[in-house]
Amino acid sequence: MIRNIIFDWSGTLVDDLPAVWKAINHVFVRSGKEPFTLENFRQEICLPIQKFFDQHPPGVSMAQVQEWFHERFRQVQDEVEPLPHARPFLELCRERKIRTFLLSALPAVHYEPQAERTGFGAFIGRPYLGVPDKRPAILELLKENQLAPVETLFIGDMQHDIETAKHGGVFSCAVLTGYSRREQLQTSGPDLMVAHLEELRDVLEANDWVFT
Ligand SMILES: [Mg+2]
Repeated sequence: MIRNIIFDWSGTLVDDLPAVWKAINHVFVRSGKEPFTLENFRQEICLPIQKFFDQHPPGVSMAQVQEWFHERFRQVQDEVEPLPHARPFLELCRERKIRTFLLSALPAVHYEPQAERTGFGAFIGRPYLGVPDKRPAILELLKENQLAPVETLFIGDMQHDIETAKHGGVFSCAVLTGYSRREQLQTSGPDLMVAHLEELRDVLEANDWVFT
């Protein structure tokens, strides 16, 4: 039975795709490179973020990348919106006394205003933020919080999330509310794939939160 849920943030609980796309494009334009179309960005963006920059070198230092990214992201962060079914799902977790965690690449400086504005921060038991690679981080998270992998579900919108769940030996659920498309997520072989969190709620409730 699922007693713990590890959430991804971007594309799973909130829609920050337009803001992140604009901030990344700002980096490329400042570096004298071509910006991405939204479609192309969704195709190419991946985690760990270093992998993305290795495939698309901006030609400037990572410190410069970060500075430009954060400069633009601060201006567009108000565009970040809660995803439609996220709040009822978080409320259900609270009602069911599910322990909740967050495993996100987003640094605390950007997470905090979003967590406050959406009100979602109050539903997250323990956030792990600014995580460059979620695979080693999930092992730490499981150990630090003494979570049994068979009672734990990781929910995310990118292949790296599914790979992370597998690395930690926990169940994985891919949601289609974020960055990656069905075909991309399928190649990572999630235990379950849903359109959104309401569909996941229905699956969990129908099975008494037993995940197989
Ligand atoms: Mg995400």
